[in-house]
Amino acid sequence: MGWVSMRVVVQQSKCIASGNCVMRAGQVFDQRDDDGLVILLDENPVPGHAGAVRLAAEFCPAQAIQIEE
Ligand code: SF4
Repeated sequence: MGWVSMRVVVQQSKCIASGNCVMRAGQVFDQRDDDGLVILLDENPVPGHAGAVRLAAEFCPAQAIQIEE
């Protein structure tokens, strides 16, 4: 047991499709092709992605990303 993963939750209903999360953490977030709303690719990102995911949550203009850890 080396690490405990973070858990990421997105609220698609809040998302305004800015794409900020994808630019910051493209391994964890994607955008839907038709309307650009956020898609969560990885609910439990590895520690190596944690910093980028925190920044994505912090700078999401719609506060649509929550992190539980
Ligand atoms: S940064 Fe926030 S508003 Fe922008 S696409 Fe990601 S979840 Fe949606």
